[in-house]
Amino acid sequence: DDSHFQQDMVKLQNAFVGFRQKYRLIKRIGEGTFSTVYKAEDLAYDKYDNSWDPDKELDKWTPPPLKNSASQSGTAPSHESQPQRRRKPKYVAIKKIYVTSSPSRILNELELLHDLRGCDSVCPLITAFRSTDQVVAILPYFRHADFRDYFRKMTVPDMAIYLRSLFTALASVHSHNILHRDIKPTNFLYDPETRRGVLVDFGLAEREGYDCRPCVCHDDPVARKAKLRPLISSEKKGAYLREDTRPARRANRAGTRGFRAPEVLFKCTEQTTKIDIWSAGVILLTILSRRFPFFNSADDVEAMIEIATIFGRQRMQAAALLHGCMLETTIPTIGRSGFSFEGIILWSTGRSETNDKLSDDEKLAIQFLSRCMELDPSRRISAEDALKHPFLRMGLD
Ligand code: ADP
Ligand code: MG
Repeated sequence: DDSHFQQDMVKLQNAFVGFRQKYRLIKRIGEGTFSTVYKAEDLAYDKYDNSWDPDKELDKWTPPPLKNSASQSGTAPSHESQPQRRRKPKYVAIKKIYVTSSPSRILNELELLHDLRGCDSVCPLITAFRSTDQVVAILPYFRHADFRDYFRKMTVPDMAIYLRSLFTALASVHSHNILHRDIKPTNFLYDPETRRGVLVDFGLAEREGYDCRPCVCHDDPVARKAKLRPLISSEKKGAYLREDTRPARRANRAGTRGFRAPEVLFKCTEQTTKIDIWSAGVILLTILSRRFPFFNSADDVEAMIEIATIFGRQRMQAAALLHGCMLETTIPTIGRSGFSFEGIILWSTGRSETNDKLSDDEKLAIQFLSRCMELDPSRRISAEDALKHPFLRMGLD
């Protein structure tokens, strides 16, 4: 509320010398688990190099010529007779990172953002300040709408444009060998009017290979089978492994409920950038099915059940085994072979009882969706290849 905002403002202004001269806080725009984000006017933006400018084409303002000695000695400078051009206000997003975040986490986020500067569709970092345990990151403000307000109205070509922008960002991030780890609508700011989007929030991002131990999913199928033989034979006898020599599994599970890839749920210890592709697929499934949130699990086991319901027991068991996990279930709603995306989308959009069919555009979108939501990460499409897929090239060729 307003009194909170006033308090926050006083705190920021006390912590950072000169803050009041640099920024005028306007409102609070986001409040998450890790930060509070404010919209502010940048009062001195032309004093530093602000090379990224979303309004570049629109903003015709140029600074007036410097006063020369002639004007100081009283001669009227020629530009004063020209009509005054008003400078368009420049807005920034000020992300105040909670002091409960570890210093290494905060540094990680700022470092990755710095590495990604200049990447298409990734919101760049302008600067950052620290005062004792307080850190604020300054980003260009990006106008965007709430996902819930536009996703139901999107046509298939709209979806293609939205996802092209998201996959452009992912291709840049992944080419830097960085996993975003938290792809979801609130971290992809999109303006349906200009049809532009930027990826934000690298708070959970990490470099590929960091915190990583070998997983059998990276072995070739023959080697994997050999390694898993004791596990499979004991399971066939309906018993647990007597002497389970497998080390306890501890894997990075960072991310958001409902967007976690199957290999994250199966505690794969060698996760790759493909986890972001799965999450982007969940966004497309949400839009196509007009349901948000599409997955609504309370924990990882429920999340596995939801995914298994779609893909069926057989494919889910194979996906588990890829990472050395056995999956057994007697849940009656998990059938042997699951459902098709076509069926799910017809059903969720109320067309399964009517004779409405999927359009050719929808079929193409679903074909792309199935490439993003491949259970096996090594067969899932990469961001780079996704940009070449006919669905993301819709309207371009
Ligand atoms: P958190 O780690 O707390 O989730 P985010 O970086 O995702 O922080 O920002 C939270 C919210 O603040 C976003 O969902 C968005 O609404 C808003 N926001 C963040 N960055 C910007 C920006 N550059 N321009 C406009 N709004 C932003
Ligand atoms: Mg966020």
